[in-house]
Amino acid sequence: MGISPRKRLGALGRHQIESLSEWLRARRASTGPDIARGRLVVVAGPTAVGKGTVVARIRERHPDVRFSVSATTREPRPGEVDGIHYYFVSNEEFDRLVADNEMLEWAIVHGQNRYGTPRRPILDAIEAGDSIILEIDIQGARQVKAAMPEAILVFLLPPSWDELVRRLQSRGTEDAEEQARRLETAKVEFDAQHEFDETIVNDDVDTAAEAVVQLMSGN
Ligand code: 5GP
Repeated sequence: MGISPRKRLGALGRHQIESLSEWLRARRASTGPDIARGRLVVVAGPTAVGKGTVVARIRERHPDVRFSVSATTREPRPGEVDGIHYYFVSNEEFDRLVADNEMLEWAIVHGQNRYGTPRRPILDAIEAGDSIILEIDIQGARQVKAAMPEAILVFLLPPSWDELVRRLQSRGTEDAEEQARRLETAKVEFDAQHEFDETIVNDDVDTAAEAVVQLMSGN
């Protein structure tokens, strides 16, 4: 389409939006009715289970699926881009978003930073008949289910507890203290799996990603 891969969606011109929309429509038609209309899918699970990797794989394979971008008060990690991975906001801005009822849900995660799902993009997706995936923590998943019972809650499980510890240690994004804190949270999170509509073991990323997509198509 001649659109730079670095261009933000919000910066596309009218013709670019038209050609991109046309491409997505054609792709949807050619891949068949694999994505049902307007499903809200919440992917949650303990720390380091690989939620981000599974969601990234769905993003690659199914560009017609929308993803919610959360707001957070945590600092960006190297390589994270504001507006793509998160909206990185100040404590004051987060307070304002909550006060103005702009959050569908929000929670303090790992006892530290606040994370929340902006409400408007979720409503827009559903109104447009598009499916949207939220990758959030378990407290958030509960709040979404209470607000929107039609949401499908998916709990990702690691193949084993030892594998979860190994994944957390090997990704090296948290120091020892933060790893210990996240493992404590993970123990509590494991106990919440029965509250979910579906559980998927993330043994193989492709298989787990396709299992989530299958749920979106109602299978
Ligand atoms: P991280 O700091 O590693 O990006 O994310 C930490 C945790 O915050 C993850 O478990 C992630 O699922 C959760 N999280 C991310 N966005 C949201 C959100 O909008 N709401 C809630 N409740 N949790 C979120």
